[in-house]
Amino acid sequence: MPDLSAIGQLLRSGGHSFSFEFFPPKDADGEEVLWRSISELEDLHPTFVSVTYGAGGGTRERTVAITRRIAHDTSMLPMAHLTCVGHTTDELSTIVGELRRAGIRNVLALRGDPPGGPGTPWESTPGGLEYASELVAFLQARGDLSVGVAAFPEGHRDAPDLEHDARVLKAKYDAGAEFAITEMVLRASDYTGLVRRAAEVGADFPIVPGIMPILNLSSMRTMVRLSGREMPAETLARILPLEDDPAALRAEGIRIATELCEQLLEAGAPGLHFYTLNRSKATREIFAALKIPV
Ligand code: FAD
Repeated sequence: MPDLSAIGQLLRSGGHSFSFEFFPPKDADGEEVLWRSISELEDLHPTFVSVTYGAGGGTRERTVAITRRIAHDTSMLPMAHLTCVGHTTDELSTIVGELRRAGIRNVLALRGDPPGGPGTPWESTPGGLEYASELVAFLQARGDLSVGVAAFPEGHRDAPDLEHDARVLKAKYDAGAEFAITEMVLRASDYTGLVRRAAEVGADFPIVPGIMPILNLSSMRTMVRLSGREMPAETLARILPLEDDPAALRAEGIRIATELCEQLLEAGAPGLHFYTLNRSKATREIFAALKIPV
């Protein structure tokens, strides 16, 4: 019998997983939007939901608090993200203790974005950890956690090449990671390429593709640029003609994301992980278009 509170086992237990990602909001208005979205998305019965961890440890308390409230006040299985940024291992131990006391057993282990943002140099913390693979090993040494990691369909922006990127994923697998979630996928073929490279190096764990529909062209362009990539020409060809019609652009963005989800599931993806940006509407629309039973 799989342990239904461990995401690593859930992802291997057959069927597709559907999960949603949230981030700790900055203010009270953002909190209200977040909890409304969480409540609306609960109706879709996701396999799990995750809460990001801010660069520099700025959202430490809020990540733990939101994850704890999801665990206690909703029917959903939460996962906390945790990063190496700015933390000593003593501090990381304290946070793991807080998560445990809150009943959280699932953690996404990341190096984290550098405090200056993606593309700025990594800053080591004396007494801290350097790479996500070290954080995976650190968490595994603390027992009974199901640990996931990040994967990159076109390679991490700072990786010298795709082979290096695959070796880094294998190091995280060898350290005890049970699953991976990808950066937003822009083309299904990028995802299948990543899965192939992972299999070639022996990183034999479920890799869940990340989904983010284009709802606003300039913010999507910024996110794609920050990830060190470019928007696919075939996507731009569909979106650019609608640049002056926000409603039509949004509708086409939802259609493109829905088609991508269908291609990914057809290609064997174990599930879909939606970057919700703390909103529920677009995710609910894609769910409806995919005819996912809820
Ligand atoms: P790592 O696996 O440590 O890799 C970082 C870099 O170091 C890569 O370029 C890699 O190639 C290189 N590298 C790794 N190991 C070695 C080695 N042994 N020798 C040489 N080079 C090496 N960021 C946040 O701040 N908070 C979040 O909550 C968050 N959530 C995320 C969720 C998902 C699903 C994804 C995909 C990303 C998320 N990120 C988050 C962003 C992520 O932290 C950054 O992309 C970060 O730059 C890389 O994290 P990583 O865990 O992959 O790091």
